[in-house]
Amino acid sequence: MTAEPIIVFDKLNKWYEDFHVLKDIDLSVAPGEKIVVCGPSGSGKSTLIRCVNRLEEHQEGRLVVDGVELGDDLKAVELVRRKVGMVFQQFNLFPHMTVLENLTLAPVFVAKKPKAEAEAHAMKQLERVRIAEQAHKYPLQLSGGQQQRVAIARALCLTPKIMLFDEPTSALDPEMINEVLEVMIELAGHGMTMVCVTHEMGFAKAVADRVVFMDQGQIVEQAPPEEFFSNPKGERTRDFLSKIL
Ligand code: ADP
Ligand code: MG
Repeated sequence: MTAEPIIVFDKLNKWYEDFHVLKDIDLSVAPGEKIVVCGPSGSGKSTLIRCVNRLEEHQEGRLVVDGVELGDDLKAVELVRRKVGMVFQQFNLFPHMTVLENLTLAPVFVAKKPKAEAEAHAMKQLERVRIAEQAHKYPLQLSGGQQQRVAIARALCLTPKIMLFDEPTSALDPEMINEVLEVMIELAGHGMTMVCVTHEMGFAKAVADRVVFMDQGQIVEQAPPEEFFSNPKGERTRDFLSKIL
């Protein structure tokens, strides 16, 4: 592949005060690529993906997203945030707004879209996650799996080029995990660039181009899923896999 990478981490380092949380991260993601990030709790996975839309700042190295370098320039940050959708473990929907209002908030108030247009587009995204009939309900009237699908639809409303997922199924009851993974798999089939922190290894096998394993703030190993699961190279990787598989 010769396409320019859409995300480039170049010797990126980050500290929380004096705790060195990300160490010399080098990672390039190609347009349309699906990356699954895994690793023990506290290894820096959330921090890594939160840097991509600058929910966290880095102190050293470079991070370039779709040609825009992230730093103190707020215009650059705003530009990147328009291209990057994010889905969190705890859905983060506004409880006092209906599903449709949650979806049109940013398009109307941030992207300045006319309300009718934003609503029509939002309904399309709700259809995509198969939940259009719930548009006028409030988040807490929905199941966890439905709320997470709404959160995915909300991210899609800004027509992102990149979607970041931070353990999107970890807070769900087991019977709701699949409905969320199915939506993510569908999205993957449409050429979206995706970086997913997840321990759903079935999902990794089904859609990931690469699995990235982190430990103690470092990328320790990365490989296509077939290779990662059948022939993990490092001791730490094997140890991790023995605990989750
Ligand atoms: P993971 O997502 O892999 O569990 P995180 O990126 O959330 O890891 O956290 C990595 C490490 O950084 C952990 O030790 C965590 O306690 C610490 N950490 C995370 N957020 C903060 C913060 N805002 N301030 C200080 N330390 C933090
Ligand atoms: Mg995390």
